Amino acid sequence: MRVAVGSGKGGTGKTLLSTALALVFEDCTFLDLDVEEPNAHFLLHPEMDGEEDFFMEVPRVVKQCSLCGKCAEVCEFNAIWVGKEVHVLEKLCHGCGSCIHFCPEAALEVRKRKAGVVRSGKRGKMRFIQGVLTVSEALSPPLIRHINKNYAREPFIIDCPPGNSCPFVNSITPADFVILVTEPTPFGLEDLKGAVEVVKDLGKNFGVVINRATLGDERIRQKMKERFPVLMEIPFDRRIAESYAKGENLLPEMMGDELRKLLEAVR
Ligand code: SF4
Ligand code: SF4
Repeated sequence: MRVAVGSGKGGTGKTLLSTALALVFEDCTFLDLDVEEPNAHFLLHPEMDGEEDFFMEVPRVVKQCSLCGKCAEVCEFNAIWVGKEVHVLEKLCHGCGSCIHFCPEAALEVRKRKAGVVRSGKRGKMRFIQGVLTVSEALSPPLIRHINKNYAREPFIIDCPPGNSCPFVNSITPADFVILVTEPTPFGLEDLKGAVEVVKDLGKNFGVVINRATLGDERIRQKMKERFPVLMEIPFDRRIAESYAKGENLLPEMMGDELRKLLEAVR
């Protein structure tokens, strides 16, 4: 099973659900790819046992060249430009290596720059992986790709970054199924539409979970159920919020059967 849990916007209960699913599933790898602000460990309390530095591979000019401009031409991210000399804008660089590959004069080489860490640990049978982007780094996708490539061992549950831009797209890449968590509010609906479009464009199967279902706008909740495959609804319950604030996840205890059904539906 290869599942990613995302949300069109922050604050919908994505991490509440992803950690609850991992607690019910137990024997899985949990990947916290919300690398700019990872917080799943507050709910899962894993025993940490490893840490690996993550390095971005950015180009470095190593000799005077003819300033042909090929490197700037092949860079999709405007991270290198050529004037009276070659300039690399490291914080915009995605580390794709195209400029180095296509430079006809071997004037560029790889330079490694530490851009984050990958921490690992365990909780019972669950393997826990967490990416942490260095503060001031502008780009999270390279770290997310690195973790997915090297740590996503089946069965896995991914806690995605919120939103539906590049970090989300990179997070769901190895997943077969994406669960989108939303809430029945106008913002929730609009952001859900955007996330659904992205997931469909990428050809992924998906389902929707409505959180705080009994608190929002009933008409929007009905609209969501008409338009999208809603697999589960979580009613608003103050006890869930209170326990969350204390670093506990009450969902497996309160809705264990529903969570197991959700996993079955995903399967
Ligand atoms: S591609 Fe190579 S030779 Fe051409 S401008 Fe860039 S660094 Fe210089
Ligand atoms: S490595 Fe890729 S993203 Fe970075 S400057 Fe070169 S072409 Fe642009």
